[in-house]
Formats: sequence, structure tokens, C-alpha cells
Amino acid sequence: MKTILVIDMLNDFTNQEKGTLYIPDSEKLIPVINRLITANPAVPVIFANDAHTENDIEFKDYPPHAVAGTWGSLLNPAITPPPQGRFLHKKTLDCFFNTGLLEYLQPLSTCDLYITGVVTEICVRIAALKSLKAGLKDVKVVLDACQGLNLKVGDTSRAILEMLHGGVKLISADEAYTELTGERQRPS
Ligand SMILES: [Zn+2]
Repeated sequence: MKTILVIDMLNDFTNQEKGTLYIPDSEKLIPVINRLITANPAVPVIFANDAHTENDIEFKDYPPHAVAGTWGSLLNPAITPPPQGRFLHKKTLDCFFNTGLLEYLQPLSTCDLYITGVVTEICVRIAALKSLKAGLKDVKVVLDACQGLNLKVGDTSRAILEMLHGGVKLISADEAYTELTGERQRPS
């Protein structure tokens, strides 16, 4: 079963003017992600979104962002969630921590996960490596549907190598689109 994971495509990360933790160029992912999530209504789409408390411990390392209930925590309105879209809220950098994601992806041994969103070397990397550890069949990071931050030069490249060595498959959005459109609805 193919499933798409969209990580943190929220106003605070993707709005250059008003986002409090804007990831440069992340808005360019929007059409790429929209194409993938609407490619096939039989493919579930999970949005894993930061939803922090006001004094979240994460704000020691990053500027405050995506406080639950604020504009910044909302999905960028240019993203069109498909009818089968589902929203999970996370409080840490780990999409699996207290979010219900693992339960949702069952049975793991037949689950192919397509990961998109921000930030390549942070939440995307953690989600990809944890997915493999959890026992998913295939974990694919859609490279041109993800954006890195490169706070230190080379951060994104190092993360890509780490994922590759860890067994994550790296694919393009065109390859993902072809695979996703080929997924048939399960017989009911
Ligand atoms: Zn956060």
C-alpha cells in the first residue's frame, strides 16, 4: 500500500513574508506536492504538522513557530489536501512520536512511504530513517518535493547520504508520480 507523507508545509515554514521560521524556497515545493497528493485518490495522504505549545522546549533551538491554533501552524493555503487527506499533529522533530503515524501505516511490511516536505536534514531525515527501523517495506524520499535548510553548509547533502546509506530510496517527483498513478484501489 502506497502512502504519501507531507511534513510541515505550514505557513510559518513556507511563507516568506510572515513565516517565523521560513525555509528558503520551500514555497517552490507546493506545486510539486500538490501534483503528487492529487495523483491518485486511492493513495492515502498524511500531513504531519508541527503543533507546539507557546513555551515549547524546541524554541530553545529554533525561533518560535507553528504554535497550535495560530495562523503559522496552518497548512499553507496553496496546498490542496485531497479528500483522503489526514492530519497528524506533532510536538517534536519526530513524526512518529505520539502522533499515531505508526498505527496508521499498518501493516508496515506492505507499506511504501513517499516522504515530502521540510526540512530535508531534520524532520524528513528522521521520518525516513525511523520508518525503515519500524519495518516499512519501502521508504522513498522524493528529493525535489523536499527542501533543506543548510544552516551549516552541506547539512542537506550529508543527510541525503545518510539516508541513502541507511537504505532509504531517493526518487524524483516524476518517478513518484508514475508509481503513484499506477497504484490501484484495493478490491473491497
Ligand atoms: Zn517545530
